Amino acid sequence: MQRRGLLIILSSPSGAGKSTLARRLMAWDDTLRFSVSATTRPPRSGERDGVEYFFRSRAEFEAMVAGDEMLEHAEVFGNFYGTPKAPVEAAAAEGRDTLFDIDWQGGQQIRRSALAKDVVSVFILPPSIAELEARLRKRAQDSEEVIAGRMRKSRDEISHWAEYDYVLVNRDLDETEARLRTILEGERARADRQPWLNDFVRGLNAEYDARQKGEKA
Ligand code: ADP
Ligand code: 5GP
Repeated sequence: MQRRGLLIILSSPSGAGKSTLARRLMAWDDTLRFSVSATTRPPRSGERDGVEYFFRSRAEFEAMVAGDEMLEHAEVFGNFYGTPKAPVEAAAAEGRDTLFDIDWQGGQQIRRSALAKDVVSVFILPPSIAELEARLRKRAQDSEEVIAGRMRKSRDEISHWAEYDYVLVNRDLDETEARLRTILEGERARADRQPWLNDFVRGLNAEYDARQKGEKA
């Protein structure tokens, strides 16, 4: 009996550390797959099409939405972002867990979708706004104007923290990663996520009964 794969949604204001945490979780557990979103934003240096994102034109993106190929989609920082639906549905049915790095709008849409019962959502908060800005600068991938835009958006993103199942303040990376692993292990251990236990416990009962019979004989 195969359990369904989890949809592990990570959201945070930009710069709080969710991509770094997602990369670390995948290095820890190589069965986790990353949901590669489609976006109309241009690639940053080092980003590859089909790895970090599927980089698409506005027209291509709109065609995917019109064709009902997106599980969710939203406009973030003036660009469109969306989650292709087919790979997520396939992974859930095959029992493979998927990690999502998406904003609160995407989190809300997936929680309201047919896949809602498979969702585990985690919101990552920065230790302070000054540290959030420092991390955006440290990443050194965006212009001053883009960084200012992300900072302006952070308050709005943070206002959605209470909609998530779990909330972590990302002070120390190792510590936050350890807490994320604990969440994942806890969610995987839930009774309703382990359908194979029916057969397993039937086996335990059969063993118990066989031993009882042996004792009586
Ligand atoms: P996000 O995906 O949320 O936009 P990133 O994962 O790109 O954020 O992190 C932004 C920057 O902050 C990166 O340079 C990353 O190495 C750094 N960072 C992430 N978490 C921490 C942490 N706990 N302490 C210090 N730096 C961090
Ligand atoms: P970035 O441009 O820094 O890669 O991402 C900007 C924001 O868009 C981040 O908050 C990220 O989580 C969000 N994002 C990335 N992919 C998706 C997606 O498929 N859907 C939604 N709703 N948000 C996304």
